[in-house]
Amino acid sequence: MTAPVPAALGNPAKQHFIGGAWHPSVSGETLDTWNPATGTVLATLARGGPEDIDRAVASARRAFEGPWSRFTPNQRMMLLMRAAEVLESNYDELAMLESMDMGAPHARVLGMKGSLVQLVQYFGSQAVNWTGTTIPNSLKGSFTTLTLKAPVGVVGGIIPWNAPLLSMWWIMGGALATGCTAVIKPAEDASLTTLRTAELLMEAGVPEGVINVVTGYGTEAGAALAAHMDVDRIAFTGSTQTGREIIRASAGNMKRIQVELGGKSPDIVFADADLDRAVPGAAMGVFTNSGQICSAGTRVFVQRGIQEAFLEAMAAYTKTIRVGDPFDSETQLGPLVSERQLERVMGYVESGHQEGARLSAGGHRVGGALAQGYFMEPTIFGGVTNDMTIAREEIFGPVASVIPFDTEEEALRLANDTSYGLAGAVWTSSLGTATRMIHGMKAGKLWVNAYGLADPAVGFSGYKQSGYGMKGGRDHIEAFLYEKSVYINNL
Ligand code: ADP
Repeated sequence: MTAPVPAALGNPAKQHFIGGAWHPSVSGETLDTWNPATGTVLATLARGGPEDIDRAVASARRAFEGPWSRFTPNQRMMLLMRAAEVLESNYDELAMLESMDMGAPHARVLGMKGSLVQLVQYFGSQAVNWTGTTIPNSLKGSFTTLTLKAPVGVVGGIIPWNAPLLSMWWIMGGALATGCTAVIKPAEDASLTTLRTAELLMEAGVPEGVINVVTGYGTEAGAALAAHMDVDRIAFTGSTQTGREIIRASAGNMKRIQVELGGKSPDIVFADADLDRAVPGAAMGVFTNSGQICSAGTRVFVQRGIQEAFLEAMAAYTKTIRVGDPFDSETQLGPLVSERQLERVMGYVESGHQEGARLSAGGHRVGGALAQGYFMEPTIFGGVTNDMTIAREEIFGPVASVIPFDTEEEALRLANDTSYGLAGAVWTSSLGTATRMIHGMKAGKLWVNAYGLADPAVGFSGYKQSGYGMKGGRDHIEAFLYEKSVYINNL
């Protein structure tokens, strides 16, 4: 592939970033990370274990109690604003690293610059905006009663590989806005932008030890962080199965927790929808980032009267989507993140065939010039029923299941018949239909005549096994804070 090598790749062994400096693993062990577009080793990471997590947590604890604890809200706000500037001016390198590491089309990652900068600025604005309250009381005597907020302490962040540049900020941003410190464990498949961001934050003036990064496998470094007795809060984004393990591990010291897990989100198209919008909207609602998005609209429910026309139009649109080299500016979909992921997704395609779904587009690994990478065609199955494996399990790849329905009631029943509840959408020109559907859908983030937009000020959470704890909005910040109730005797 034809990308210039970013400066951050020049240093061959990517080490842990602890206390503002690079450290190899205590064990001396390493692991390789791959470029999914070429199937070649991209960099060698330190393979962290419990001793490295101990070091990083101790560094975060020291920083939490050190000069960082005396930063004023205004200083923290200005620090985040400076961080946004530093990220903006180094964004080309970060975008290059992200594309090489996890395969997202470079043009798409470059297009996310504004969202990243806004996310960091949003957290800057929150640094001066969290407050306690004074509460009138009915006590005998004269007392002033109020609540005080205080940062929870050391926050552990365990993030996935599908969008590291944004994912890390949901943790770093909350920590920096509230005066917490953080230890981040990025995914073993895509750690490079997290390491580089931590380094850049020092340039922005973040004191050493406030943001630490330990790389390695989930079952080693990740599990040690989730179980660590001196970590006060854990934020996790990833699979539901791993989320369950993290919740269990957090019980040891009753960590505060926020988990954003899997999804099998419904995208419901009524016959009165504007199909010129709904067809590309539903297609990109599932295929964006090669389907590797928790809130992907993977179950596309289509009202029976337009089912055949919709399937045909969606298949025709899908055939125009360009899968290819992430560094080709025309590319819309890059590879899946790893060979393992590609094999998993192709296993689901096989199960679709076996259970009697009808292939309308795609369905194959891409060969030719792309054969060395983990590329897959965007795939649509028609004639799917909601009980087929492809309609029940999270695939995390570019596979859409199109399922017919007749009435609003049936659409709602099928949409909610899932163990997940992360997101959902409805396409219709009727305000009444849209309103009834958004009231009835059991999911944490809903769109009407749109799919996939997000604003950090709005925030979202999940229903059912898609997790809990707000990401974004005021409650996101609150979750980085303890609350104390105070009674002052007015004598
Ligand atoms: P995937 O299987 O798609 O990689 P995961 O949910 O397993 O999704 O991974 C998300 C993040 O969780 C990654 O950083 C991974 O290393 C980490 N992880 C995986 N297993 C564990 C675990 N048992 N404890 C803590 N973290 C884990």
